[in-house]
Amino acid sequence: MAVIAAHSGPAEADLILTGTTPGSLAEPTAPPEPTAPPELTASPGQGLRDYVRAHAENRPGVYRLIGPDEQVLYVGKSVRVRSRLLSYFRADRGEKAAEILALSRRVEWDHYPSEFAALLREFRQIRRLRPPYNVQHKRERAVCFIRIPREAAPRVLVTTRPQEDGSEYYGPLLGADRAWAAVRVLVDALELRDCPATTPLRLADQADLFGADYTPLCARAEFQRCLAPCAAGCTEREYAERAELARRFLCGESDEPLDRLRAHLRSAVERWFFEYAAVVLERIQLLESTRRSLLRMQEALDGLTAVYRVPGHCGEDRLYVLQRGLVRAELPAPRDGRERRELRRQTDRLLAAPPPAAGRLGSDSLAEMLLVERWFRRHPAECERLTMP
Ligand code: SF4
Repeated sequence: MAVIAAHSGPAEADLILTGTTPGSLAEPTAPPEPTAPPELTASPGQGLRDYVRAHAENRPGVYRLIGPDEQVLYVGKSVRVRSRLLSYFRADRGEKAAEILALSRRVEWDHYPSEFAALLREFRQIRRLRPPYNVQHKRERAVCFIRIPREAAPRVLVTTRPQEDGSEYYGPLLGADRAWAAVRVLVDALELRDCPATTPLRLADQADLFGADYTPLCARAEFQRCLAPCAAGCTEREYAERAELARRFLCGESDEPLDRLRAHLRSAVERWFFEYAAVVLERIQLLESTRRSLLRMQEALDGLTAVYRVPGHCGEDRLYVLQRGLVRAELPAPRDGRERRELRRQTDRLLAAPPPAAGRLGSDSLAEMLLVERWFRRHPAECERLTMP
């Protein structure tokens, strides 16, 4: 730790549009590159601690610890930047804070009007700069969607990369492995196929099947886990009805797959097959909890199309235009009638377009959407500040 520099003070434009114009959402606009104005660069030899003490303020902000080769080692946020930075100097040897500080050549910080503003900047900087000492926000959490592709005998799949391919997407969900396990239970219960898209289908109502005798292409049909559209085991309509049951289940409109499993459970218990009954019970619980997560997320995101007013430091209030958890714009709070009308006009314009489909969301937008959803889940009182458009 030899050269010391700090960047202090708001680095905000008055109006920050994130996302893009309605209907074409891209990744959130990255914050400006962290730079230290020359006048704030401390001379070598000046104590970093003294510099922080003299210049940092106890208000919300984002700080960056920077190594000798200008690599950003760590990005953090705090509602009290000065106290947080000074706490690094009290860290014991062996603690992460002491380790980062030992490698740091300088520190920069930007103050923001509120914790929420700092949270968004911290998130975006970590996603962009990928500092080696940050874990949170950098890790690609297994955000996934349940996908029903558009095909003759639709399958139910899980994807972490939704595309604009005409598929239906249900989610987002956290934990792709768990989602896959739930989907396997769902397709078995409804006897839907799980083979590759290229598997030749021979539906029972196809005209050229007259007199033909087909054998299913895998053992799932034998175990009554697939209607076998590959071997004339069902008509197109019969299969479509089952696929529709899957859709309705995922939307919370039908319990058919659970009812089928509960019937299996009863039958297993009546026949004293307790081990099998335990397995079926586990499947029921997995399916129930996955759908609960899906519906909870849907409900939360539905409630997050709103204008969120956040009181700021020294009256610097900000408004966030949210669309299903996506931050579409950050605006200064209006001060008079003219600004209020302008705000209304902008909000109407931003929210007039339908929210972007799952296939149009990049991983950063998805992660930010979940960050906003988590913010309101952890701070339920903040929901009081939401105004529905
Ligand atoms: S039985 Fe046929 S349609 Fe069903 S999963 Fe197996 S290969 Fe696919």
